Amino acid sequence: MSEDETVPADVTHEEEIPEDHPRYQDLLTRHRIETGVEKGITHLQGMHAEGRGSAFDYLLGEETIPSADAAERAAAAHLLLADHPVLSINGNVAALVPGEMVDLADATDADLEINLFNRTDERIAAIADHLREHGATEVKGLEADARIPNLDHQRAKVDADGIYEADVVLVPLEDGDRAEALEAMGKTELVIDLNPLSRSPQVAEVPIVDNIIRAVPNMAAHAQELADAGEGELEGIIEAFDREEALEEAEERIRSGL
Ligand code: ATP
Repeated sequence: MSEDETVPADVTHEEEIPEDHPRYQDLLTRHRIETGVEKGITHLQGMHAEGRGSAFDYLLGEETIPSADAAERAAAAHLLLADHPVLSINGNVAALVPGEMVDLADATDADLEINLFNRTDERIAAIADHLREHGATEVKGLEADARIPNLDHQRAKVDADGIYEADVVLVPLEDGDRAEALEAMGKTELVIDLNPLSRSPQVAEVPIVDNIIRAVPNMAAHAQELADAGEGELEGIIEAFDREEALEEAEERIRSGL
């Protein structure tokens, strides 16, 4: 990357990042994570996760590839068909797409639940406030009155009337242990992760290999477009989606650029 492609060190507002910059999305993402850390929303480790994601996105061409778009449509269909869909929010998700997650929850009648790897009351409160500032009316994850089986105490905490009883859960940027434990509970898991080889997308019913910044608004757009679709049409979209093919296509694009 040439020197003129780095973000100026003194950017304080994301509006200062030039939209015509060739790496605009990456700079925006990085800036939002930095702001998230400053606000106490994102853990410092979130920066490392962001760095890994950024490298994969670079290799993907920083665009939503066709198999990711198909995954996003299938994920929207799952959320619309669910009895109790929940969108899980961690520190990176809250920093990157707070308003977009609220829009997706509105479009699919889903709950928003804060679910943190490094859980502290301060971070939970900061994220809940941040989501409310972006239009959320109800935020779950504060009660933490149930546990995901087979995970250590802190990381197992969920709401009994949220993730614990949900049938479909969107878990973006999730760590592999928790994704596996949720899968073992029989949830239908929809995972957004730029690394197709990571354990989370590997166990997901719908692996979405795309930057969350593009994936979530696209899922909301699909959900809005499918709002009046019947059960048969939604089931058809789900059946037509091939998770193995989607993972293979993403890996192929990353490895070969094709
Ligand atoms: P495992 O699932 O095997 O535990 P990991 O340890 O790499 O993998 P984490 O660091 O817990 O996983 O999660 C971060 C994941 O999120 C990484 O796979 C990274 O590629 C992905 N990621 C980071 N930023 C984004 C983003 N903006 N959009 C989508 N995925 C992202």
